[in-house]
Amino acid sequence: MAEIVIKNLRKEFGDFVAVQSSSFTIEDGEFFMLLGPSGCGKTTTLRMIAGLELPSSGDIYIDGEEVGQKPASQRDIAFVFQMFALYPHMNVRKNISYPLVSQGMSRAAVREKVAEVSRILGIEDILDRPVGGLSGGDRQRVALGRAIVRNPKAFMMDEPLGALDAEFREHMAEELRALHDRMNATTVYVTHDQLEAMQMGDKIVVMNHGVIEQFGTPQDIYDKPATMFVADFIGSPPMNFLKFSGTVDAGASAVRLEHVDLPVPEVREAFDGDMAYGVRPEHIHLSDAAPYRATIDAVEYLGTTQILTLDTPNGKLRARISSEQPARAGESVGLTFNGNTVTLFDRQSGRALR
Ligand code: ATP
Repeated sequence: MAEIVIKNLRKEFGDFVAVQSSSFTIEDGEFFMLLGPSGCGKTTTLRMIAGLELPSSGDIYIDGEEVGQKPASQRDIAFVFQMFALYPHMNVRKNISYPLVSQGMSRAAVREKVAEVSRILGIEDILDRPVGGLSGGDRQRVALGRAIVRNPKAFMMDEPLGALDAEFREHMAEELRALHDRMNATTVYVTHDQLEAMQMGDKIVVMNHGVIEQFGTPQDIYDKPATMFVADFIGSPPMNFLKFSGTVDAGASAVRLEHVDLPVPEVREAFDGDMAYGVRPEHIHLSDAAPYRATIDAVEYLGTTQILTLDTPNGKLRARISSEQPARAGESVGLTFNGNTVTLFDRQSGRALR
């Protein structure tokens, strides 16, 4: 299997820069997510790694070898498309064995390999059925079978679950992750679905307009967003931003909003200007006596938790609190925050102040 190192990778289509100079490392055996909104450059990045698109500049190393200008056929990478390019007139066995037969592998070896792969995927029962009549999930498994059968160095997957309905999607996501854990193959996975990325990924690159906003574990990205874009893109509801202007001193552990000091994680460098006090919905606490005041605008009951929409002097907030805590629209409440779970942002650049 393979380690993939991306250095200053860039792609231009004419005057348009689809991917700005990007650098990151995908470790051997990692399930690695390229996440971002439509058009951010994630598919282009994946296609460059697979060799389906040549970079304008920069390097791609697979297991130490620079392959950036090499064709896909010399990279030993399997690409799983969203629209599975299965051969509808062939049965499942033929579809899976196709890459091996075209490599000239002996019939006995092919049979053995197909048996092994279909055991891993749980599709031994349907090997002789034509793929035309299969369910979405089975087609998915056959496509995966065809990708894994030749033991490639790494798998590239472009929104492989995109065409499935929500319930089935979740089931296939779990299956895919379990399959990955059994095979431990380096996998690069493109999605615009933050929940999918958080649930499945070992590491995530968050992209926006061709730029990498952040690279890290799901927990890093959730707890310590590097930019307001990431804070807003990840989480449901996303991070809240209380907007204010003022000054923070180096080493300060609080900022002043509406004459009330609110805690922040220690800021290393002084800052003066427009800021946002970033706090996740589950990190907002109600306390009758707290001096930072808000009015409850709306209450949305979700079973064990409820989402409150709160009107504050610095804008609207959404808070997730226990349903056992009484809360009624129209009430005035005090809010408290914990500095360790807050992120302070420079509103102009969008970057976190740390
Ligand atoms: P999506 O989820 O919609 O596919 P994406 O993040 O995967 O989005 P890309 O497909 O990588 O985005 O495209 C990034 C940008 O580059 C888009 O604006 C797209 O229109 C542009 N682009 C991609 N391929 C080409 C091409 N061959 N020629 C010109 N522009 C392209």
